[in-house]
Amino acid sequence: MPETQLLSGKAVSAAVYSELNSRIAALKEKGLTPGLAVILVGADPASQVYVRSKERRFAKMGLYSETFRFDDDLPESDLIEKIRELNDDHNFHGLLVQLPLSQQISEQKIIETINPEKDVDGFHPVNLGLMTAGVPRFISCTPKGILRILKHYDIETSGKHVVVCGRSNIVGRPISVLLSLKTDYGNAIVTVIHSRTPDLQKYTRQADILIAALGQPEMITGDFIKAGACVIDVGINRVEDAAQEKGYRMVGDVQQSTVMGKASYLTPVPGGVGLMTIAMLVENTVEAAELGLQ
Ligand code: NDP
Repeated sequence: MPETQLLSGKAVSAAVYSELNSRIAALKEKGLTPGLAVILVGADPASQVYVRSKERRFAKMGLYSETFRFDDDLPESDLIEKIRELNDDHNFHGLLVQLPLSQQISEQKIIETINPEKDVDGFHPVNLGLMTAGVPRFISCTPKGILRILKHYDIETSGKHVVVCGRSNIVGRPISVLLSLKTDYGNAIVTVIHSRTPDLQKYTRQADILIAALGQPEMITGDFIKAGACVIDVGINRVEDAAQEKGYRMVGDVQQSTVMGKASYLTPVPGGVGLMTIAMLVENTVEAAELGLQ
């Protein structure tokens, strides 16, 4: 039985922040403070938590951020107008719209309205295209955070079989593309599985690196993995738990208790990929400010 090493998002994000501090100081010396505009529509509790964490982190790093909050009945045309205004506002180098949006608003239309040069979430088709072509500008934060964890812990991807569980535009698809690219963080053999895949375990058990981005609490048990695999748990799920004061606890898509002792590496939830997502948002915003100087 291998010992399972936990891959700490806390340690990796701390390394990222310390490297960013000097880049931020250099920008400030030139009179420029990287700024992020966040648009939040509605009162989705998870979105509110994410936005507050982003605000706190930006304040801690001495960066400028402002959140624009709207009721969930905001007409699509008003949101588009706000984005256009922020696209032209020089205080903001990065601009993101927190997803999901209310039903009357087309997410795709909104993403396409954001100036690709400020699209620090990396969701705009121009940025997705650049990433797919292997010349990325902004890589979306969660996939970028996964790459950073793998690099920090020297986990080889070249020639390895990566199985990505999930194919969303936010996580599954971009990480599968990135890992298949001919780059120093890619060169993997990538299989993407999803809800139409029969017999998931047939694929997951072949994985040298398994990435779980399903949104299904603790679905990936020890039975799904090959002994010695590296398991990256992207899931953030709230499950009821009467033993907790809050009445719930957060779990990933991976069942930690059965994977520990079988995997070589595992990202914990909390304390894994989630922390990296915010770190990469800060990095992308700093990059956007640096690009503005060129
Ligand atoms: P989506 O719901 O957009 O996508 C889930 C994917 O998993 C889909 O491709 C879906 O298949 C597939 N899937 C769902 N259920 C099953 C199943 N039973 N069997 C096989 N495939 C299945 O989720 P996201 O990608 O946005 O997020 C995934 C998880 O990651 C969530 O828990 C989310 O909270 C978390 N997350 C965490 C972040 C972080 O910072 N750590 C950031 C973003 C997300 P199909 O395409 O066929 O429907």
